[in-house]
Amino acid sequence: MKQVFAPIVATPGGSETTLGVFSKEEDAWDVLRAFLAKAGETDIVSGNITVWEIDYVGEDGQFILAEFDRNPCPVCEERSFWVEGDNERARCYNLRCGSWIEQNTFDSSRWDCGWPAANWEKRADDYKQAFRRLIEMRAQSTSAGTEHRMPSREAWLNEKDRERRTIQQNKFNSLNEDITE
Ligand SMILES: [Zn+2]
Repeated sequence: MKQVFAPIVATPGGSETTLGVFSKEEDAWDVLRAFLAKAGETDIVSGNITVWEIDYVGEDGQFILAEFDRNPCPVCEERSFWVEGDNERARCYNLRCGSWIEQNTFDSSRWDCGWPAANWEKRADDYKQAFRRLIEMRAQSTSAGTEHRMPSREAWLNEKDRERRTIQQNKFNSLNEDITE
């Protein structure tokens, strides 16, 4: 039995667009992924890969291989986080983020999640926990970034003190030069 694969995307109203029909599953995935990567500019909220059996008579000749839903990303907050199926896997298609959640291939009781932009990877017990781990990663990076931009009060005072001493030292030096000339 031969099959064809069609990546299909849909708007909130359910109006569907078929992106093509392919004899290779891999090609259908490539086309869908390429679309999701640029979906930020569209109002598409869901997608799927539909499989048709060729030369098949009857209603059962069609099924959905994978479904995707668009959500806000727990890390970058862009609406570029695509969740596959019933929380089976997820990935942010924002190139500057790329956060992801996936069940471990070898150990089905383990979930992994990551944020490539910050070179972070963590383990979790289930999808929900992995999602929370991503939120934690963002929180940690935000607080680290804030600390970096805003030095502590003590550090700020020390810095001002150092500046003042440098100015006084320069004044002293120039006075000294005046005197010795
Ligand atoms: Zn993201």
